[in-house]
Amino acid sequence: MKKAVVNQKECVACGVCVKTCPRKAITIFHGIYADVNEDLCIGCRKCEKACPASVIQVVEKEVAS
Ligand code: SF4
Ligand code: SF4
Repeated sequence: MKKAVVNQKECVACGVCVKTCPRKAITIFHGIYADVNEDLCIGCRKCEKACPASVIQVVEKEVAS
């Protein structure tokens, strides 16, 4: 399954991705960086395209069985 992954060291916590996500899967953790709830993320790439710092990537992730 495709899931969004944030490079949290480079994230500037601008919140653009939070507003962009149609699934409300992203929150800003303690005002420091974006955190993706993988249970909600559908891998649509909207956050990846929207992030002004280009620090979100949608990648293929193993799903625990
Ligand atoms: S849009 Fe990018 S820089 Fe802004 S909070 Fe989201 S991941 Fe961080
Ligand atoms: S890939 Fe889509 S669903 Fe997943 S966090 Fe980004 S905007 Fe939200």
